[in-house]
Order: sequence, then structure tokens, then C-alpha cells
Amino acid sequence: MTITLAKKVDLAFLPTPLHPLTQLSEKLGGPAIYIKRDDQTGLALGGNKTRKLEFILAQALAGQADCVITAGASQSNHCRQTAAAAARLGLECHLILGGEKPADINGNILLDTMLGAHLHFAGNNRKGEDIPALVESLKQQGKRPFVVPYGGSNCFGAMAYINAMGELKSQLETANLKMDHIVFASSSGGTHAGLALGNQLLDLNINVMGINNDKQSSDTPLERVIETLCTETLAALSIDAPVPEIKLNHDYIADGYGVINQLDKHALSSLAQTEGIILDPVYTGRAMGALIDMIRQGKFSKDDNVLFWHTGGAPAVFAYAKTLVPA
Ligand SMILES: *Cc1c(COP(=O)(O)O)cnc(C)c1O
Repeated sequence: MTITLAKKVDLAFLPTPLHPLTQLSEKLGGPAIYIKRDDQTGLALGGNKTRKLEFILAQALAGQADCVITAGASQSNHCRQTAAAAARLGLECHLILGGEKPADINGNILLDTMLGAHLHFAGNNRKGEDIPALVESLKQQGKRPFVVPYGGSNCFGAMAYINAMGELKSQLETANLKMDHIVFASSSGGTHAGLALGNQLLDLNINVMGINNDKQSSDTPLERVIETLCTETLAALSIDAPVPEIKLNHDYIADGYGVINQLDKHALSSLAQTEGIILDPVYTGRAMGALIDMIRQGKFSKDDNVLFWHTGGAPAVFAYAKTLVPA
């Protein structure tokens, strides 16, 4: 099938590396674990939002926007990458961050500031509730604001991960490898929608398994949100195909978003100390913790090939120093 994706701007260093985690696989006694390094997309310390922003900000430029607005948690990787992309494209950037201005500026907030973003602290409204008012006020100042959706999860963000599956497919062909499973952190759903769609449209036949890291905050289960994203993306691409089955594991939500537990800590130190790779405490640490736990529970066969998709987030570790290494 030929898939014609929307136009994108170039922001990322692609393809991101794909390599085996030899030490970790050996330590756990199989399956063979591989990693896809979207923590190395290259834009201001990288992450999965860079791929999404390539497609989303092409829309902003096409619509003659001169400033962008997005929202997230105070240590949002999405906000930091949006600030970097905006800087690179000459757009003013406004970030609506959850919580109050912290006394200690560190991690992603430090980077947001260095990248020249305007920060607005929104208390409990970390999912963009305050965006409409800011859009109005910028318009009144004669500006042309463009809203980047929460987590970059709309059909354009999902297209970026259909594209990423095409990239993975050619890497696997070159290496003469077959993956049986992909494990990754799923939160606002755009990455998941794109990976599941790409898997189906490109006939990859991989078990695409998202690990949820956030407690349900609305009445719509995340599976339904992702399915809707798939439907919208298929419509935007004029592709007549069924919505893929969305596999989302909720067993590891624990105490909710950004609350670090033993499993996360163990995953962070395991990957750092066996492979020299830094995970983040909120998303990829949780997903790797889930992968290690599922391996221990015998949920994979010894000769499976499992791909861990590293979606980035390492800049947040600095803000969690006191939790990760208690005094
Ligand atoms: C945003 C983010 C995710 C989740 O991706 P979604 O497309 O929002 O589901 C995973 N890992 C990291 C590091 C992120 O910043």
C-alpha cells in the first residue's frame, strides 16, 4: 500500500538508532531485547514529540502562524520540545504548565526558559484548560497563535509514528531482523495510534503494546481515545482500513502520573548500569519497569525479539534527584 503522509518540516535526526540491549537481555536470561532510540531525535535533548512536531508545525507554518501555544505538566517533555521547535522555526512560544512556578528551576523548565519560551503556570490545569483564554489574549495583541494539542496527539502527531514504523521496517529489513513485540510508554495516545496504524498498514505483524502511566482523568478510556485518533488519521490519509486493535496495559499505573515507585527506580538503575542508557522517571522508566516485570513473570518466550521504544524524557531526571537519590 502506498501511504502519502502530510507535509512535514525537518527537525529531527532520522533514522534514530536501533540496537540490541545485549547486557540487559543476558542479565534477564532472554528474550532478546532491542531498543529504538527516539531519545536521540536531536532537537534540544530529543524525544518522541520531535517527530510529531515535524508534522504538526508544518500545519502551523502553512497557516501563517507567528506563535504557538501548548500545555503540559511542569516537567513536560512535550513542552520543552515544542519550545525548541518554535525557536528553530522563528515562532514565539507560550507554554501553559501545571503547578506553580517552582523555587528550584531545573530539568525541562530550565530548558524551556533557555529556549526562550513564555511560561504560564496554571495550578491544577495541566492539560490545557487555560488555552482558550490565552489564544484570545494573543489575538487581541494582533498575533496569529497556533495551538499544538496536548502531547502533540492529533492525526498529524499519529502520522509521525506511522512514518516511524516505516523507518523501523527498513531498519529491520537491512538487519534481517523480525520483532515480535514493541513495548513503549503510552500517555496522550498519538505515539500509540501511529505505531498501531503503521504496524497494520505496513504489514509488520508485531504485537504493539503500550504501557499506561497515568490514572484515568476523564470518562473516556485511553483505548477509546486512541481508536478515535486512528479513525481521524485514517480519514485524513483517505485510507479505507479498519481501526487496529489497541493493546494497552494498565497494570503499572501504580500511584499515577509522575509518582516514582520501586519498579521505576529499579528500571532506571538497571538500564543505566547495564547499558549506559538514561531513562526518564515518568514514562520510559515505568515502561521499562513493566517490561522487566513481564519478562520475570514469563510473559515472553525466550526466543522472542522485543523492541523497547525509548520515547525520551531524560532531561526530567534532574528535577527528580531527591526522589531518585535520597540524602
Ligand atoms: C509524551 C511522552 C510519552 C507518551 O507519548 P504519547 O504520544 O503522549 O502517548 C512517552 N514518553 C515520553 C518521554 C514522553 O515525553
